[in-house]
Amino acid sequence: MITAAAALERLKEGNRRFVAGVRSIDSLVKQVNRDDFLGDQAPFAIILGCSDSRVPAEIVFDQGLGDLFVIRVAGNIVAPSQIGSVEFAAEQFGTPLVVVLGHSMCGAVQATLDALSQPSAGTSSNILSIVNRIRPAVEPLFATGLRDRPEQLLEAAIRANILAAASHLRHGSQLLEQLVEQGNLAIVGAEYSLETGVVDFFSNAAG
Ligand SMILES: [Zn+2]
Repeated sequence: MITAAAALERLKEGNRRFVAGVRSIDSLVKQVNRDDFLGDQAPFAIILGCSDSRVPAEIVFDQGLGDLFVIRVAGNIVAPSQIGSVEFAAEQFGTPLVVVLGHSMCGAVQATLDALSQPSAGTSSNILSIVNRIRPAVEPLFATGLRDRPEQLLEAAIRANILAAASHLRHGSQLLEQLVEQGNLAIVGAEYSLETGVVDFFSNAAG
């Protein structure tokens, strides 16, 4: 298995291709050769991304079948089943890198901001379970001047939610914490821009 740094570089290269509108032949070949993957899988990165239809990990990173272990959930939240999925891939396949992938204009984060500014009694409890996972990271922003600047508030909330999810993964699981301490796993935060197609890896540090 490759190192976390090499895995990160592979994702960055793939995203550069996506932004430039080119596709790697390697990824295209891997997308049609299903038979090559009937045995084991060895994904080089785990992506915890938002369910938003405009942010499919395999496409924005230009990767093929078998390359990415992808967990998608609205708001890229970290609940026990997401932690379990990351643990499974990190342990079973020795995948060295986890990327929490948020994105600009995230509807789940916006819904959380809306719920904070105008609580409504009619929201489904299932949707609330997502909002309540995002709430602790974004609530403190309401105490700042951002409260009156909706666009900047959403931008800051999206980043805060990504950082909180990455931190939760690092510290919410003994198994993952151990792998990180041993240098066998890196967990980073990144934001995809719907406007430019660029993925900004803005959080590489532990925290
Ligand atoms: Zn989203």
